Amino acid sequence: MVGAGGREHALCWSLAASPLVRELFCAPGSDAIAREATCVPLAVDDLDGITALCREQQIDLVVPGPELPLVLGLADRLHAAGIKVAGPSAAAARLEGSKAFAKAFCARHGIPTAAARTFSWREHDAARDCVREHGAPIVVKADGLAAGKGVTVAADVEAGLDALEQAFGGAFGSAGETVVIEECLQGEEASLFALVDGRNVLPFGTAQDHKRVGEGDRGPNTGGMGAYAPAPCMTPALTERAMAEIIRPTIAGLAADGCPYRGVLYAGLMLTQDGPKLLEYNVRLGDPEAQVLLVRLMSDLGQLLLGVADGVLDHMDLRWYDDAALCVVLATQGYPGAYVKGSEIRGLDEATRLEGVTIFHAATRLEQHRVIATGGRVLSVTGQAPTLREARDRAYGAVDRIDWPEGFCRRDIGWRALDQTPR
Ligand code: AMP
Repeated sequence: MVGAGGREHALCWSLAASPLVRELFCAPGSDAIAREATCVPLAVDDLDGITALCREQQIDLVVPGPELPLVLGLADRLHAAGIKVAGPSAAAARLEGSKAFAKAFCARHGIPTAAARTFSWREHDAARDCVREHGAPIVVKADGLAAGKGVTVAADVEAGLDALEQAFGGAFGSAGETVVIEECLQGEEASLFALVDGRNVLPFGTAQDHKRVGEGDRGPNTGGMGAYAPAPCMTPALTERAMAEIIRPTIAGLAADGCPYRGVLYAGLMLTQDGPKLLEYNVRLGDPEAQVLLVRLMSDLGQLLLGVADGVLDHMDLRWYDDAALCVVLATQGYPGAYVKGSEIRGLDEATRLEGVTIFHAATRLEQHRVIATGGRVLSVTGQAPTLREARDRAYGAVDRIDWPEGFCRRDIGWRALDQTPR
């Protein structure tokens, strides 16, 4: 496993339960992941170090958690070294690594998405004209990886022009040298996941998340304050439509373009009046979506990911528990702005013992048996139960047992699916 966050903790937790997994290493991992895996202090972008570790330990399968090593070419390096990997090549990872590439790809392969135009910093004036002519609302996106901060949904032209100045002014480094300007789609958002082995596709569930920091989905964007699965709005018919119109043409298109996709493909969708449209591709599981997907997975994740690497998904199917899952993220006060690291979290043992509760750690370390927060998003408290409402109650029951005055969470995760009005 490559990574260190809540997603990777959930992946390690799931993989450690696989009868196929004899030994699990995680680079770099964390104190929480160390309960499931042997952690090795290598950064996720240390491609040389990770490849050398795999040779040394005769690793059979590598599972990259985050997008960065994939975009940098980790899968290509491992592949060249004869090591199996459940993640896409750098060429296929451009689906996430470059929004301009993804847009051109969608246009070429007839995949429904927001109408868009792409501009480099040399075309700043033309980009400004585009925003003014189109008018608001309008969406401005930095082309490259910007840790979830590169997208502005502008309610007026001024905000759209500001977003352009920011990107071209260097706010996102080289990721903002090119921008995509696109129409603002209306509808409900949902995420659709698929396992892909180059040719074959297995649907891997649906989820919805809450990106904004504040209740009622207000305030600045974050990496994700909570999620639930399955997404009730993704009916079987709608899921099949999105598979047929978006996921399968994507896989076929990449294969036709000479860069077949292997790994988890995550499509962020807008359910518009004209049907599902693609908002973005991710080339990995989401965080906290991984947490809610994986607690529901009955099948052996190890076997499935080997199937991805070996190109044999056509011989596999997968099973889910009937339960719903809901995850509440506990974050350090101040996040996504400035915050102070190093506060102590108490009560985790008691919270973990509750029925139907699993707590994944995104950013903690152990200091003489004390759990210390080391980041913005710190814990993913995940409840599972026969209904989404009960899953929510279990998650918040656990949250309420956790004693961490320096932390906070949203109290309305799942509102759209449960109450239809924010609390
Ligand atoms: P992305 O990283 O492209 O998914 O964008 C992050 C968020 O911005 C999405 O989850 C949406 O809420 C919003 N967004 C992105 N593109 C659009 C669009 N074309 N129309 C409306 N909202 C969008």
